Amino acid sequence: MSRRRIPDVVIRRLPLYLRILDDLDHTETPIISSQELGARSGVTPGQVRKDLSFFGVFGKQGVGYNTGNLREELRKILRLHQQVAVGLVGVGNLGTALIRYNVAREKPYPEGTGLKLVAAFDKDEKKVGRKISGIEVFSLINLPELVKSLKLSVIILTVPAEAAPGVLNHCIQAGVKAFLNFAPTKLTAPPNVRIHHSDVMLELESLAYFR
Ligand code: ATP
Repeated sequence: MSRRRIPDVVIRRLPLYLRILDDLDHTETPIISSQELGARSGVTPGQVRKDLSFFGVFGKQGVGYNTGNLREELRKILRLHQQVAVGLVGVGNLGTALIRYNVAREKPYPEGTGLKLVAAFDKDEKKVGRKISGIEVFSLINLPELVKSLKLSVIILTVPAEAAPGVLNHCIQAGVKAFLNFAPTKLTAPPNVRIHHSDVMLELESLAYFR
């Protein structure tokens, strides 16, 4: 099946499955059933089997999936078997925290594969040239050349809401097609550009209702 026809919700569940497999000792648990994978990820076993079958991944009937193989398959499907160079724009309080958080993450993946934060950008002259956890802060003017030389393909936006549309356009012009937006504003982009939103305040405000 072509990448386009796979429902979004399915793609969104794959990292969840991958995390479960990452946390398993593959020697101790060489096989995982769709029941177990479903129970750990909060979906039905049928849903697990359906999700994976979109990609031609089928477990052994009555047995399950080989955990090591499934992890590799999921990494390939998500294209995490390659290096995914990530940049961040807006080195304020949130941006700085995310740089530190990301750098501290340890994943059991081979060097040269998976997500890697490699550069940060800011318009503030005072911040340009600084390093945070080893990540250099560049001027936004340098973004197009660094997108090419560092092969930046995902950008995290932690600029204020009013700056976000302009920064987004600048990144799109430079060829970036995937964004994680933390700015508290809805952004729009052409259909070939993907934006995921993470709005901490919206999450907290909805939690206020449930308390
Ligand atoms: P700080 O007080 O350190 O600036 P903050 O998180 O309160 O932190 P914000 O006003 O949210 O600051 O801005 C976040 C960061 O985004 C700042 O470092 C700011 O310089 C940067 N920024 C603002 N506008 C742009 C822009 N157009 N391009 C790039 N960076 C920008």
